[in-house]
Amino acid sequence: MDLKVEDIYKCPEGHKASIVWISENENTIAVRCPYEHFVKVEKVAIRTKSSSSYRNHATEEREIFTKDMVFLIRI
Ligand SMILES: [Zn+2]
Repeated sequence: MDLKVEDIYKCPEGHKASIVWISENENTIAVRCPYEHFVKVEKVAIRTKSSSSYRNHATEEREIFTKDMVFLIRI
């Protein structure tokens, strides 16, 4: 294996990510992926202008994505 920092390597979802760290024994690397990754579904409160009190507690589920995630990969 002949990898070095800043080389392109696939993230677990198959995007082109870049290597940011390689362990001393070279069996683990960290890659940072610039693409968005699904993280979780989160319940968020919906703000309404309605004055009825129960509406103020309404929530909706929203999918949370994040960019620039770092993955540790065993190679
Ligand atoms: Zn990715």
